[in-house]
Amino acid sequence: MFKLLQNSRFFQLLFKIDCRQAQEAAQSCCRAGGGKLHRADDPRKARGVPHKLTEQWDRRYSFCCSTEGCRLRHTPVSVRFLGRKVYAGVFIMLISALMNGPNERRAGELHRELGLDVRTLKRWHQW
Ligand SMILES: [Zn+2]
Repeated sequence: MFKLLQNSRFFQLLFKIDCRQAQEAAQSCCRAGGGKLHRADDPRKARGVPHKLTEQWDRRYSFCCSTEGCRLRHTPVSVRFLGRKVYAGVFIMLISALMNGPNERRAGELHRELGLDVRTLKRWHQW
């Protein structure tokens, strides 16, 4: 599993999936009034991503309706980001699966291997 998280091609694949979703969203219209959608990305800092790819991962694609008075936000589903969490979504899911229950020894290993805070790990697991 740690090999997968060190594999930049894996992260690039996730990036490509999100790009495809964003392209589709860009061609659609506002679900409220049918207005045109404009890019309005959310800045992010995704931790757990290989260093050379952090630039690809510094924003979550998002759009907003161009109609004055509507401005409804349209954020396509992302395989990279989970809500407002700062770690890459896939990272959180894999770590949570690996922890497989609140186990102090496991949490200690993850802390040593990846420098993750034990409280962060517990929060992810509950989530
Ligand atoms: Zn609208």
